[in-house]
Amino acid sequence: MITIALSKGRIFKETLPLLSSAGIVCSEDPDSSRKLILKTNNPKIRLLIVRASDVPTYVECGGADLGIAGKDVLDEFISANIYQICDLRIAQCQMMVAGPKNFKYQEALKQKTRLKIATKYTKITKDFFSKKGIHIDLIKLYGSMELSPLVQMSDLIVDLVSSGKTLEANNLVSYEKISDISSQLIVNKASLKLKYLDLQPIIDSVKSNV
Ligand code: ADP
Ligand code: MG
Repeated sequence: MITIALSKGRIFKETLPLLSSAGIVCSEDPDSSRKLILKTNNPKIRLLIVRASDVPTYVECGGADLGIAGKDVLDEFISANIYQICDLRIAQCQMMVAGPKNFKYQEALKQKTRLKIATKYTKITKDFFSKKGIHIDLIKLYGSMELSPLVQMSDLIVDLVSSGKTLEANNLVSYEKISDISSQLIVNKASLKLKYLDLQPIIDSVKSNV
């Protein structure tokens, strides 16, 4: 049995065409079904529906052989048990530093002002500002980061941006791009060795359809 972990919503919807061009068809829709294990047309392949940020954990711990996870989630997750196999070029967006329109970001950087930053992405944020030599105070949030500067809880946020509409609706602007984000195919290292004959054709056909 080959088990693939992915999250519902955007990643599931954008992954389906990739899987089906690799001959793997899932007839159940996780948005309407409450099942967490979905069958496919191939009795040897099943899908696990997990929280986006839990995908690397399932692959790391062997609950799944393969996984599809955003680079944002993978950059926050430290693991020696996972290989990133390929960029699937789906769920594309950017990791951005953003804040209120009137915040003087360039000036703050130049003067090495200490910054208060709210984010779900604490590791990515720490790494980015420490390379710049800027000291930061982090506020860990789990969602709706845009609120934080509006109630003066932080100077800035670090979050994913695609259209920029959510920022705009909250009078925020992007100040600096940290990285380009898209979903990656990941594999458990032990699975790759032990189930190589079953995994390699799946990996190859997904890769050739990206
Ligand atoms: P959750 O609500 O569980 O935190 P989301 O459904 O918001 O997760 O996001 C899941 C994944 O989708 C993220 O890890 C990221 O890789 C990708 N993603 C999030 N926001 C966007 C976006 N605006 N555009 C494209 N991809 C995104
Ligand atoms: Mg979300």
